[in-house]
Amino acid sequence: MTMSFRLRLTLWYTALLAVLLLLIVVVASSLVRASVMQDIDNNLKRQGDQIARLLQTGAPRGALADILAARAEEVLPPDVYIIVRDRDRRLIYRSENLANRLIVFPELYREQAWQGRSGFYTTAFGQPGEMRVYFAPVVFGGETIATVQVGRLLTGERTLLRRLVGNLMWIILVALGLGAAVGYWLAGVALRPIQEATATALEITRTGRLDRRVPIARPRNDEIGTLVNTFNEMLARLQELFEKQRRFSADVSHELRTPLTTLLGNIALLKRWEALPAAERADMLAEMETEAERMRRMVSDLLLLSQADAGLVLARERVELDTLVLEVYRQARRRAEGRELVLMEVDPATVLGDAERLRQMLVNLVNNAIQYTPAGGRIELSLKCLGNQAQITVSDTGQGIAAEDLPYIFDRFYRADKARSRAAGGTGLGLSIVKWVVDAHWGEIDVQSQVGQGSTFRVRLPLAEPCTRAATPLPAELTAAD
Ligand code: ADP
Repeated sequence: MTMSFRLRLTLWYTALLAVLLLLIVVVASSLVRASVMQDIDNNLKRQGDQIARLLQTGAPRGALADILAARAEEVLPPDVYIIVRDRDRRLIYRSENLANRLIVFPELYREQAWQGRSGFYTTAFGQPGEMRVYFAPVVFGGETIATVQVGRLLTGERTLLRRLVGNLMWIILVALGLGAAVGYWLAGVALRPIQEATATALEITRTGRLDRRVPIARPRNDEIGTLVNTFNEMLARLQELFEKQRRFSADVSHELRTPLTTLLGNIALLKRWEALPAAERADMLAEMETEAERMRRMVSDLLLLSQADAGLVLARERVELDTLVLEVYRQARRRAEGRELVLMEVDPATVLGDAERLRQMLVNLVNNAIQYTPAGGRIELSLKCLGNQAQITVSDTGQGIAAEDLPYIFDRFYRADKARSRAAGGTGLGLSIVKWVVDAHWGEIDVQSQVGQGSTFRVRLPLAEPCTRAATPLPAELTAAD
């Protein structure tokens, strides 16, 4: 059987309370009992000793029985029983309230009395009854001449104690009932936020609405408050991720639909107009090739990004950045077409990482610079060694990026200039890949841009070792070209 946490908490709490209260009753009643018994014993001893003294002082003058008959009843309260016996256990005196009954005198105590000692014992008396008895010797002329037993029934005290414990038990029962009720209520109050969190989680599971939050009546800094806040933060994060994922899927479908539409349209045309002029036919095929090529690029970019999301582990080998920069520069020059592509300083610099990904990062940056810079513009590429960082700069004198677009250019599928990006076969994924590669190499990237003036992308990567290597002289073909 599963029991609710609230009920379990209440039961534990009530059980603990019960144990504590019972302990208090046990301790309190035995303290009361001890103190009552002490009182009774003190009184009995006082009364017994008084009788013994009376007999001692009266012994020389007459028979003990007569002395007692005259005085005992007046010195003693009526609920006290007295027996005085001589050495042969014969009765010398017995108080009237005893009628013809006797008080048991165990041999052990009788002997003690005859040896001159006094003491107490408890014995049965009547039905049902218990009697506390004090015994003492009567000593005269250095010799014990009689024993005194003074007794008192304990019935009254016993009843009183029993009633006290009985009443306390009722009080405990009521207290436990109240404690359980209050405990149950308190546990409910304490657990309410958890219940609310559970209800919210259930609602989210059922409806799929990630925008729900656990309500917070008032801010609290305790364990529950922290739990609820953490839960809500987690929901916000999930919602954000979910949204991003959803938007991403929508973007992907949208991005793929456009080239597919073009392709299918062209295919339909080609099939229908077999007698199409050769020039037009060639144009359409070229367009189809461009679109297909763009789709290919987009799909491979997407594949790379999804591997990145899944935590693709990059190689960690020594990469000579200077060599890489030279290679990329050499290849890009062929595509510059009318823009001036200039290689500035190239310091020797080695980093730890994945050569292929680093190359892709460089190519993307340089391609963008070419793409968004009109003919006649200038693009500069440089690699500088700064302490323990390598700094790659790609700057152009192109169209620039508006300030409101700057924060988003590294987002997937974000294009500041949709028409131009599309016309140039851009996928909108290039800078996302750049950002990922930089991050995966523990680097940083920043952009400065002015609309109409140009843009500067700066990447800083941690070096494998501080800059010491001698600069590789630029190959003659490169220096000669500029
Ligand atoms: P795309 O395939 O569209 O180039 P990117 O992710 O590489 O995708 O770039 C995102 C957007 O950032 C581009 O669409 C463009 O608007 C802007 N951008 C990137 N580089 C430059 C640059 N050098 N000059 C101006 N705009 C740029």
